[in-house]
Amino acid sequence: REREEEMETKDYRAHVLAIPYPSQGHINPMLQFSKRLSSKGLKATFATTLFISQTMKPESFGSGVEMDTISDGCDEGGFSEADSVDDYLKRLEVAGSKTLVELIRKYKTSSHPIDCILYDAFLPWALDVAKQFGLIGAAFFTQACVVNYIYYYAYHGRLSLPVSSVPVSIPGLPLLQLRDMPSFIYVAGSYPSYFELVLSQFSNADKADFILVNTFYELEHEAVDSMSKVISPLLTIGPTIPSMYLDKGVENDKDYDLNLFKLDSTSTKWLSTKPPGSVVYVSFGSMANLSINQMKELAWGLKQTNFYILWVVRSSEVPKIPDRFVEEMGDKALIANWITQTEVLAHEAVGCFFTHCGWNSTIEALCLGVPMVAMPQWTDQTTDAKYVEDVWKVGVRVNLDENGIVSRYEIERCIRQVMEGEEGKVMKENARKWKELAIESVCEGGSSHKSIDQFVSKISTTMS
Ligand code: UDP
Repeated sequence: REREEEMETKDYRAHVLAIPYPSQGHINPMLQFSKRLSSKGLKATFATTLFISQTMKPESFGSGVEMDTISDGCDEGGFSEADSVDDYLKRLEVAGSKTLVELIRKYKTSSHPIDCILYDAFLPWALDVAKQFGLIGAAFFTQACVVNYIYYYAYHGRLSLPVSSVPVSIPGLPLLQLRDMPSFIYVAGSYPSYFELVLSQFSNADKADFILVNTFYELEHEAVDSMSKVISPLLTIGPTIPSMYLDKGVENDKDYDLNLFKLDSTSTKWLSTKPPGSVVYVSFGSMANLSINQMKELAWGLKQTNFYILWVVRSSEVPKIPDRFVEEMGDKALIANWITQTEVLAHEAVGCFFTHCGWNSTIEALCLGVPMVAMPQWTDQTTDAKYVEDVWKVGVRVNLDENGIVSRYEIERCIRQVMEGEEGKVMKENARKWKELAIESVCEGGSSHKSIDQFVSKISTTMS
């Protein structure tokens, strides 16, 4: 009878505990991936920091994924509570490891103990904790494979830093100029703590049971093949955009996101009043800060194009919008604090994405078939921009003037090139092809589909 009761209460699905790095661009892909794992029959629990869990609406987690928390040592104010990036990362590691241990112990005595820790590769300490408990450790690399491979090279001392001799030659990658490298590599001494963080992804990756990369094989096959030779087993499991855009039969999965910013819901209505392909959607993601001068040039450059503009300006950036811009634009522009980006990119009114080329933004645009103007700011965005323009041929990259600013004329020129010219038509057509390949990769028999099944079956067969 006891055995029967146990059979009734125990959850026999293998249990994956997902630990994202606590920022929007890392939470989004891991949440989507967790949902995919759940749809494949695993139990998925998503543990953000206590601070983040308090700022979001629990219902935004969507069906299938449970929520839990760890601590980043800044429970009251998150990142803003720390003295510096370095201080934050140290607190995250100390408090994160301790609370992750507690979480694993909590589940150990429940009906669904943890089988696998799926951790953002920015948090290598989570793998150490997983191994301490004999659990499967799966590293989730959020950024492009090519970027990770450059960091791998740098971590193993194969690039002399800061890089000064160009072009840089790395197997599987095109020749790279300085401005194509991730910014931490070519700007000497820039953001040392973040640079250390991206390199630390490889500090213990050889002990991980899986290296999962948020990309799809067809998109980066040369970099994937090269990196697979030195670090394995490497599985490409992306794109991790909401499944309703990729899978047949999944309709309007409204519960797909977790926003750290207050959503402005007017944009869809505004877009629906605009003709197909007539709107330029502009966003610099969750972190970038433009100088006042750059915001001025951007605003007037957008106006000069005479296209409709949907511009996401986070509330901290709003004071930098030039006076008179909003009134001069009238119905030609909508400024929103934060929108559901995939929904906007999927809208037929959007003809071009003016982007900072964060990896999620880039892969979302590729998979939704939207050509881009790339205006990278820092970190991996510079390399993504190189690929957008020269490898995937789905966009054009802006040039800086002699003062290091992108002028209004350059902004207008690039947008016109994508929206109007013959080259723009080719970019649009290429974007459409990438969209098809992305969908194929996650459908039955596709490259990411196979990788995900391999991952799920390994975890299911080794569960405790
Ligand atoms: N995003 C969004 N609404 C916005 C702007 C961005 O939902 O108004 C999402 C976007 O879809 C992407 C993420 O925020 O998934 C930003 O990640 P990315 O890697 O592009 O840039 P980061 O914010 O990390 O610089």
